[in-house]
Amino acid sequence: MTVTEKAFAKINLCLDIVSRRANGYHNLESVMHTIPLFDTVTITKSKEISITCSNPAVPADSSNLAYKAAVKFFEKTKIKDGASIHIEKRIPMAAGMAGGSADCAATLRGLNRLYGFPLENRELEELGGSLGADVPFCIRCGTFGVTGIGHDFFPVSAPPKFIYVIACGSEGISTPAMYKEYDERYNPPLCDEPKNLFTQKSENLRIALEKGEKEEIFSSMFNCFEEIAEEQRPEIKKIKSIMMENGAAFSMMSGSGPSVFGIFEDAEKAYASKNAIENEGIFATVVSSNNE
Ligand code: ATP
Repeated sequence: MTVTEKAFAKINLCLDIVSRRANGYHNLESVMHTIPLFDTVTITKSKEISITCSNPAVPADSSNLAYKAAVKFFEKTKIKDGASIHIEKRIPMAAGMAGGSADCAATLRGLNRLYGFPLENRELEELGGSLGADVPFCIRCGTFGVTGIGHDFFPVSAPPKFIYVIACGSEGISTPAMYKEYDERYNPPLCDEPKNLFTQKSENLRIALEKGEKEEIFSSMFNCFEEIAEEQRPEIKKIKSIMMENGAAFSMMSGSGPSVFGIFEDAEKAYASKNAIENEGIFATVVSSNNE
């Protein structure tokens, strides 16, 4: 028996670090939004857990988050079985789009379906949360405000339907390295019991999304890692300029980078931007939330 699940990428419409905990975790604020760029995860019942992936750069062993998801699923459900998992990779890797977390979430959802739903969504999210901060979000999908270490959600209005150009240089960025650099530069205050509420900067975006005011949405979007990442990967600035020159309404880096998204309302401009970025030898793709 086989099931196939889509593993959707996310972008951060805002991202801020507000403090850090004594254990080294960071308290963040973000609006995370699922976009229709996805890996396809195909799971077949099997004697053992195994992974194959269309992208040879992705580890096809027990370090793959989809493999770890399967281990956790069989442990938790006490089902004595295995699964061969194939990932058709489209989400750029180590790019700040939660590709690994999305595969992990899709594997949990897929296994749960394959075995007749032994776990409730809440249990899947708990399992996922033990594997990565972004996994519970990737299990839910949609648009959510996220606080704390990334596990506390509240619903936020989705942005209007847009066309997105996603572009990414070939050299990924390590998320832990980015947090380390952020700490050294900005020294966020210590706080072990943060309020699970947005502070003003993120709240401005939440309100703009609620009103659906495009200009207000764009002027409220921000990413606290963008400055550091742009210093490390000059192509980020270049991609943003190409997008804006080709008619993007807005453009920003996602997560800890280096992927960049451009927001377009006109498909022709989006494809012109994609072509211009590709002419620089940089990966780019167009996805449309109109097709969701
Ligand atoms: P995030 O936005 O959650 O920080 P990311 O998009 O920056 O994640 P990923 O694409 O998830 O980064 O890759 C980060 C690392 O995770 C990779 O360098 C890779 O070694 C490892 N990894 C494990 N499983 C996967 C997977 N299924 N797909 C991609 N990378 C994976």
